[in-house]
Amino acid sequence: MPVGNVAIVGAGIAGLTAALSFARKGISSTVIEQAPELTEVGAGLQVSPNASRILAELGVLASLEAIWMEPDIIELRSGTSLRRLAAVPSGRSARQRWGAPYGLLHRSSLQQALLSAAQDQPLCRLVLGKRLDVADRRAIADIAGTEPDLVVGADGVRSVIRSLVPGAPQARFSGNVAWRITVPDAQTPDFIGRKNVTAFLGSSSHLVCYPLREAGCINLVAIVSKADPEADGRGRTLKHAFSRWHPAIQRLLSDVTAPTFWPLYEAGPGNWQDGAKTVLIGDAAHAMMPFAAQGAAMAIEDAFELAGRVARIPLGAALADFETRRRQRAEQVRRRGAFNKFAYHARGPVRLARDLVLGLRPPQALAA
Ligand code: FAD
Repeated sequence: MPVGNVAIVGAGIAGLTAALSFARKGISSTVIEQAPELTEVGAGLQVSPNASRILAELGVLASLEAIWMEPDIIELRSGTSLRRLAAVPSGRSARQRWGAPYGLLHRSSLQQALLSAAQDQPLCRLVLGKRLDVADRRAIADIAGTEPDLVVGADGVRSVIRSLVPGAPQARFSGNVAWRITVPDAQTPDFIGRKNVTAFLGSSSHLVCYPLREAGCINLVAIVSKADPEADGRGRTLKHAFSRWHPAIQRLLSDVTAPTFWPLYEAGPGNWQDGAKTVLIGDAAHAMMPFAAQGAAMAIEDAFELAGRVARIPLGAALADFETRRRQRAEQVRRRGAFNKFAYHARGPVRLARDLVLGLRPPQALAA
């Protein structure tokens, strides 16, 4: 029996992209979101060509291109000397190489663009301010106003919809913590490029900086590994974590106001679908560390590919095929992130070797 309507829990990047992707295939959806309104959550996002290509197909890219910035260069620098270690051209080069752009913007700008496209779509219905405290099909059907053929858990790393999928992944602390900071353009020191993505590398830590044109600020993401989420959130401050870095970076980090602290959780192994009526996408399925800057991109790919399969083949087979293919893809990206972490956070002699090697072979994706 073809799928006629879908309930999507979560109006983040995964959930809204799913609603648009299903609509494109003629399938109606209800998106159920706990927040009463979609306001600013998170900070900057790098949107890589694998994601922007899909956003173009969904008719959302043009509105992003009007506000975002395409960086000229993505570069790696030493966090102690500021010396450039490696650089790859982006901007026009990214478009030529990948056939789609690489852009920088605030997460909320992307979410708003997806939201307004979904609101223009008669097949997408959005219900805000409804939190599902437990995963209960009856409650979902009541909110959706009908029994959905498929429930999509797009409810993030702490997903409750997981409990509808036997053997689903569980969230676990990754050992890494992040601080996300924005600095107004006018207060940004000169050593930070205004048109670049720069990752400064240290020992067990790195700092990524890039401009958010539409927000008039620079986005900073500081990530520390071998961390303790309790202690770091209270006592061990951002300043302390970077105390052996270049004085200019120490000054920048000690001047910032209101950094937001993020203990980083990831999804462990487990099933993403129940073979019949429920599937997990985005962070609910495979939350990963941001070392390859691909979490939102994976959420966008998941949503688009899920809708394509559900429209084409019987539901049980569509979910099984989705899980098999997307698991391979997420694993590939997770491995790339693990390589980047090894390179970015290297210590001692490995760090010296890294600096030499990076000049010869820059990582494929450089990011927070
Ligand atoms: P979420 O964004 O978490 O959305 C889940 C939604 O579900 C939320 O709106 C939430 O309110 C709702 N919800 C949750 N529970 C319920 C419930 N019980 N009932 C109803 N609603 C519910 N990715 C990139 O591609 N590029 C980057 O540059 C990048 N940088 C990052 C930097 C950092 C420091 C971090 C931490 C992440 C970064 N990511 C990046 C990853 C990216 O932000 C996430 O992977 C992505 O936002 C996940 O989207 P999602 O829709 O799956 O989940």
